[in-house]
Amino acid sequence: MLNIGCHLSTSKGYHHMGQEALSIDANTFQFFTRNPRGSKAKKIDPEDVAALISLMAEHQFAQLLAHAPYTLNPCSADPKVREFADLIMKDDMTIMEYLPNNYYTFHPGSHVGQGVSVGIDFIVELLNKILQPDQTTLVLLETMSGKGSEVGSNFEEINTILSRVDLSDKMGVCLDTCHIYSAGYDIINDLDRVLEQFDRIIGLNNLKAIHLNDSLTPYSSHKDRHARIGEGTLGLETIVGIINHPQLRDLPFYLETPNEIAGYAEEIKLLRSAYKE
Ligand code: FE
Ligand code: FE
Ligand code: ZN
Repeated sequence: MLNIGCHLSTSKGYHHMGQEALSIDANTFQFFTRNPRGSKAKKIDPEDVAALISLMAEHQFAQLLAHAPYTLNPCSADPKVREFADLIMKDDMTIMEYLPNNYYTFHPGSHVGQGVSVGIDFIVELLNKILQPDQTTLVLLETMSGKGSEVGSNFEEINTILSRVDLSDKMGVCLDTCHIYSAGYDIINDLDRVLEQFDRIIGLNNLKAIHLNDSLTPYSSHKDRHARIGEGTLGLETIVGIINHPQLRDLPFYLETPNEIAGYAEEIKLLRSAYKE
């Protein structure tokens, strides 16, 4: 079965997201733990979360994917900005344990001219501070498009971070199809070779989730603009190849396409019908 969902709004609570997912034939979803700009998280209502957990068990949901606020910069040159990322992510780890055994993804950040290796040092330092041996949440590094001074737009950088984190069994990778195409991985013509590279450099065992997006911008453009499925430079054929690829087909897929709920419902319907059972 295809495990697929989309980004949903947390505003009406956790159980509501589960119901909304079911209403569009999704069996997982992505959500922000707090306002995407990184403000204070809403207090967790244990009953609301318990209702989501039982809904997920009843309907065989795949892992949920929480997304860190996209404004955090764990490798900023400003210690206050780094401290803020540290604080928010630490708090997010606590929130995530209310929903045990799910995933949390974040953007490695931008080194803002300090150089990749300084940026990576800061990211590793942060992860070594926030990861706890008894946590059940897997923290995923997202592959980036390489706009500006973004860290994590190639497999080598992702691997360097993973290999330097002490609790590496708490870590994994979330591959964003729009981002890696923009970063210069030709998943239209050479998906097998890209996956072979991923396996050689990072290890496919570390790949835990896919952000399934089409792209508005051309190959290797180092931009980050998502398109609806089949309406971008990747195209439907490539995306159908991705969800059916033997090395990817069992992973959970999360849509982050520019859509309202009805648009997501259509994309999920299309992708389920294109999935070879
Ligand atoms: Fe992201
Ligand atoms: Fe993404
Ligand atoms: Zn993006």
